[in-house]
Amino acid sequence: MTVNLLNFDQPALAAFFAELGEKPFRAKQVMRWIHHFGVTDIEQMTDIARPLREKLAAMAVIAPPEVKVEQISEDGTRKWLIDVGTGNGIETVFIPEEGRGTLCVSSQVGCALECTFCSTGRQGFNRNLEVSEIIGQLWVANKALGRDPKGDRIISNVVMMGMGEPLANFDNVVTALNIMLDDSAYGLSRRRVTVSTSGLVPAMDRLREECPVALAVSLHAPNDALRDEIVPINRKYPLKELMAACRRYLEKAPRDFITFEYVMLDGVNDTVEHARQLLALVKDVPCKFNLIPFNPFPDSGYRTSRSEQIRRFRDTLMQAGYVVTTRKTRGEDIDAACGQLAGKVQDKTRRAEKRVVRIVAEQAQHSVPNH
Ligand code: SAH
Ligand code: SF4
Repeated sequence: MTVNLLNFDQPALAAFFAELGEKPFRAKQVMRWIHHFGVTDIEQMTDIARPLREKLAAMAVIAPPEVKVEQISEDGTRKWLIDVGTGNGIETVFIPEEGRGTLCVSSQVGCALECTFCSTGRQGFNRNLEVSEIIGQLWVANKALGRDPKGDRIISNVVMMGMGEPLANFDNVVTALNIMLDDSAYGLSRRRVTVSTSGLVPAMDRLREECPVALAVSLHAPNDALRDEIVPINRKYPLKELMAACRRYLEKAPRDFITFEYVMLDGVNDTVEHARQLLALVKDVPCKFNLIPFNPFPDSGYRTSRSEQIRRFRDTLMQAGYVVTTRKTRGEDIDAACGQLAGKVQDKTRRAEKRVVRIVAEQAQHSVPNH
């Protein structure tokens, strides 16, 4: 059987070489060839003796995922549609900013969690991505972007904020994070790698123990009644438990705050009263806020909050002493903004179909004449 070496972090690669009766330092050499130099041909690994190269080439490949389409926005944002087989596609987005370049990486084909304002969630779920498909996004983007004149990589930060819920694909995401942090691969610091979660409490505790990187939590509502509705995973892990998990996470986190993401939905969660409730909710959790104006997609049923409303909401938080950023929409012309990543999902949950059935049933109910 042929193995794809992109699936291995350094410890796994060392174990692989140990089985072949080879020294563990081979793992470091091979990691460097693959991730540092972007090599896919084992023959080019010139500091490895020819007989070992031949042995490796007979049993292993370096197979990055295939890019179908690359789009470049007027503002420099780039988006890649990546083919992951059987009619499925995922998206990866690069966002250039002053002094840094951030890659937004996907973790699943679709998402099973059904947040009501999210285009990925609306599309249903097909499967978890393999390690090679997660780290492959960074590999592919690095290859396309290259290095700056000083020889530094253009990509300085990674956020797991593309399609999918990263903590629902825990093992593969953590292996991919290990490769991002490995000095023989991408050498990113823990502070420059962010996992965004909708709040899978047990997995947050595991991440704290196994790979504590910077954490962003998608809050979006300041009370359980509203959050139950728009972020349905809240019914399983309600706010009190989520806030406790955030406090526990900070014991090991590389930054001394959690970033709370809050999508601004007109007339749903954006009043000053919501902001006040939010302040009460987070009072024991050192945090910053990232307000995300809702990015519309067809038939979403939501509108973006008016800028005046966003300003009032932001000011309420700032007056209480918090750092608040309002995310600028990037790459709008190529549908690359948060929550707009669609990829191509062969939905196994038949969500879209069920939605149509539900809407038809609701309409039928409403049209029953009153007696
Ligand atoms: N599943 C993870 C990470 C992916 S989404 C999570 O939910 O955190 C990255 C961020 O974009 C999340 O905060 C998500 O709630 C937000 N988002 C989803 N749909 C959006 C939309 N239509 N407009 C703006 N932000 C959206
Ligand atoms: Fe999944 Fe995150 Fe979208 Fe919710 S917001 S459906 S968790 S990708």
